[in-house]
Amino acid sequence: MSPRSIAIVGAGLSGLVLARVLQMHGIESTVYEGEASADARGQGGALDMHEESGQYALREADLYEQFRRLTQPQGETMRVLDKAGTVFIDHEPEGGYGGRPEIERTALRNLLIRSLDPGRIVWNHKVTTARTLDDGRHELTFADGGSTTADLLVGADGTWSKVRPLVSAATPRYGGISYLELHLSDVEVRHPDLAALVGPGSMFALSDNKALMGHGGTDIHLGASLRVPQDWAATRGVDWTDTTAAREALLKEFADWSPDLTDLIRKCDDTIILRLIYTLPTGHSWPRIPGVTLVGDAAHVMSPFAGEGANLALLDGTELALAIVAHEDDVEAALAQYETAMFPRAAAAAEMSAQGLDMCFAPDSPRAVVDFFSGLGVPVV
Ligand SMILES: Cc1cc2nc3c(=O)[nH]c(=O)nc-3n(C[C@H](O)[C@H](O)[C@H](O)COP(=O)(O)OP(=O)(O)OC[C@H]3O[C@@H](n4cnc5c(N)ncnc54)[C@H](O)[C@@H]3O)c2cc1C
Repeated sequence: MSPRSIAIVGAGLSGLVLARVLQMHGIESTVYEGEASADARGQGGALDMHEESGQYALREADLYEQFRRLTQPQGETMRVLDKAGTVFIDHEPEGGYGGRPEIERTALRNLLIRSLDPGRIVWNHKVTTARTLDDGRHELTFADGGSTTADLLVGADGTWSKVRPLVSAATPRYGGISYLELHLSDVEVRHPDLAALVGPGSMFALSDNKALMGHGGTDIHLGASLRVPQDWAATRGVDWTDTTAAREALLKEFADWSPDLTDLIRKCDDTIILRLIYTLPTGHSWPRIPGVTLVGDAAHVMSPFAGEGANLALLDGTELALAIVAHEDDVEAALAQYETAMFPRAAAAAEMSAQGLDMCFAPDSPRAVVDFFSGLGVPVV
């Protein structure tokens, strides 16, 4: 039987596209989101959408044309440097566009939010627990003490999913990289030298197990990343919420890097955020559990060094929706179809992401990254 009620936890890319594709096929769902509104939190930098996953999902969601209008011209340029500022790759695809158009995260998320019927997203509903009732339905309890039940429950609630324990005992582990999220706004006006250094697309400055990597454009979104033990940040004696202290500590870590590059740290806005990369085990899967499943990072959070996570999140949400549509009378068949395709796909992407991490963070980086792109036909300077 088709599920009478569908609850999706999380209004990230995976949950939103799931609700959107279900809506297009006349199937109701409710998205419960912990944040108070669409603009409660900055969503970070740009994402490139892959043909077979992100772009496919946006086509199925009938949002592809609108997406293309929001993509950034020249967003696919790529620069690879080392700590001395030596440029190894400075590539612009012919005509400014390659096959992977870039879009600001906020623009992409807002496109999906606007595509949903009013009321489909219930904001300010942070799930604290999820449990299965004796009758097979699922109950969500919210931080304000309220609760709801659903026939089909989908965890689209990211790395620290509250739905995941219903299907799996796995928990994310530290992935070896700690980073400080840096932001430089309005760079063409305020910091034209840094705008030119990063370029309009991606920049990877890599050396000695450290990286300054991110995207340019009107604003620069950057991670200053280090391969360090999990307790690195906690044991530095630095209050990372104090931007002056965080900036100073970071400049010490990158002291032997070119001043042109470290100007990205010196001149960044006062919004420095410490983050640690967490990953689920490669190949994370679970046996079929009636009436509940996971999409996106909740199912397979991986390190970001292959640029796959958001693309997979969109593909997962779309494929799950299409499976529910195809098996309207048998939700278990739909979930089995979705998971059977998703598990190996996620495992392969997690493997690629782990390899990407090892290429970016090596004693002799950027050598492996330059070799990798050169092998794909990208010209080396
Ligand atoms: C530094 C970095 C760079 C990245 N770069 C790329 C890239 O270039 N390309 C790419 O494809 N991917 C990239 N990724 C990965 C990508 O960001 C994620 O894989 C993607 O956002 C996952 O989407 P999601 O919908 O599964 O989860 P999320 O985006 O995490 O969304 C989860 C949603 O659930 C909500 N939520 C969480 N808990 C609860 C709760 N208890 N109750 C209610 N709501 C809740 C959250 O508020 C959020 O809105 C990067 C990740 C990082 C960390």
